[in-house]
Amino acid sequence: MEAKNFIEEIINEELDSGVVNSVHTRFPPEPNGYLHIGHAKSLCLNFGTAKKYDGLCNLFFDDTNPSKEKTEFVNAIKADIEWLGFKWSEVHYASDFFDTIYELAVKLIKDGKAYVDDLTAEEIRLTRGTLTEPGKESPYRNRSIEENLQLFTDMKNGKYKDGEKVLRAKIDMASPNINMRDPVIYRVLWATHHRTGDKWCIYPMYDFAHPICDSMQGVTHSICTLEFEDHRPLYNWTIENTGVSHKPRQIEFARLNITNTVMSKRYLKKLVEDGAVEGWDDPRMPTLTGLRNRGVPADALKNFCEEIGVAKANSEIEISYLEHFIRDYLNQNAERAMAVENAIKVTITNYDKDGEVLDFDINPNDEEPKKRPITFSKNIYIDSEDFSLCPPPKYFRLKKDGYVRLKNAYIIKCDDVLLNDNGTIKELLCSYVPESRSGEDTSGIKCKGTIHWVDANNAVDVEIRKYDYLLKDAEYAGQDFSERMNYNSVTKFLGKAEKYIETCPENLSFQLLRKGYYKKMVKNGKIVLSEIVSLKDGFKK
Ligand code: ATP
Ligand code: MG
Repeated sequence: MEAKNFIEEIINEELDSGVVNSVHTRFPPEPNGYLHIGHAKSLCLNFGTAKKYDGLCNLFFDDTNPSKEKTEFVNAIKADIEWLGFKWSEVHYASDFFDTIYELAVKLIKDGKAYVDDLTAEEIRLTRGTLTEPGKESPYRNRSIEENLQLFTDMKNGKYKDGEKVLRAKIDMASPNINMRDPVIYRVLWATHHRTGDKWCIYPMYDFAHPICDSMQGVTHSICTLEFEDHRPLYNWTIENTGVSHKPRQIEFARLNITNTVMSKRYLKKLVEDGAVEGWDDPRMPTLTGLRNRGVPADALKNFCEEIGVAKANSEIEISYLEHFIRDYLNQNAERAMAVENAIKVTITNYDKDGEVLDFDINPNDEEPKKRPITFSKNIYIDSEDFSLCPPPKYFRLKKDGYVRLKNAYIIKCDDVLLNDNGTIKELLCSYVPESRSGEDTSGIKCKGTIHWVDANNAVDVEIRKYDYLLKDAEYAGQDFSERMNYNSVTKFLGKAEKYIETCPENLSFQLLRKGYYKKMVKNGKIVLSEIVSLKDGFKK
């Protein structure tokens, strides 16, 4: 099988040499918040790798930190993964393995490889040493196995308060890797766990629990992000010294970072709590629930994750690259519709029919392009941006005495402009060319501009929302997160849309012609057209 990244190269070698004979991965979120685009990258990698090798991928909830974890997050994470279309083989929770993890900690104690320490967290930190100096051994390091067993049992039985005692692995206080200097593997924590309730008042640390849980699930390749590279020796130490029979391998890859985007749950939470956004699913949020609400197609997100590949070094991807995939997908798949912003009223003075029904192209990119009916009449609206009183040279939209084509309808000419007292445009008086109907144009008039329009006799009022990034540009990159916040990231306009927008289902995505991609939402009974992505591609290949 051809390897498309370094992880697959590793797997291929292992399969060839017989180190493994199948592939089993897991996606390991901590249920302490909502998933974001970075997680999508990890999801695509874990599920994608398993699929490629016809293997398994579990959903594994890393719930060893009860004070921050909630069932609400577990359910939201599942929904997000389902939205992306991934199917996990099995669901497991670190908490399912608490008994086993405890037993293995006891085994370490019995083997003289773990001890109960009375030092406080602060004292442990201060005696850890530095990159250039070794750490100092704790005075409790050489307790007898019997004493350690008794103290650990007492920890479990609730004899101690938070922080009063910890269990540490007895490794090497002089190790060049600080993670190996007798890391804490269990702590006392009086917190109700979202699944085990009050059964436990001690909880294993991530570095100890994770390799054991991987092993118990039969995971072969435990894929994680680069910040865990220095933890790999501890991962391997745990696997070797607890004596678990199945031995997984940890492989690290670079975290996905995107310009103008906050990707840490901690900051995302702050945005929600500060009211900078409407919630975790605000369309401006880089959470999966936010992207879904924005109208970003799951496949566009997966295509993006696929294309950016898997790196060994951290970098930042341009947000315009993600937008490029969203636009590309919607261009192929989204229906077209018309809406105008800051509508200008147009009266077609020579049109004396009651109105007519024309054919509108649903999506010119469809394999077999289809049409839907659209009404046309004497009164229409055009976008204020499509008319100029003092047009610059080469202005191909509508101007006095100029011609323009109305998309899927007729060519019109502006004969007169009626102004309000304050000089603003009140109405345009136009004439249409009857023989210029789209598809059967025999007028011979060459018209350079085509604009969108809405039949005023059949229009609905809409609110059009456009978004800017939540985080200002890279020139602010060195500044504090709060200074980079863009508090003007939503703009609302009033507009008129064709009737179809009213009758079509909620959540449908469109290309609003010449505007961009939008999703129909209904808020307080009003139609909101919420921007998904603009039409213009800012990405340079
Ligand atoms: P955060 O810092 O946002 O809370 P996390 O790493 O703590 O992220 P977890 O729930 O622990 O979040 O992550 C689950 C999995 O997703 C982990 O394997 C983690 O490495 C991976 N992951 C998280 N963020 C990214 C990212 N930006 N790019 C790639 N993978 C990521
Ligand atoms: Mg985490």
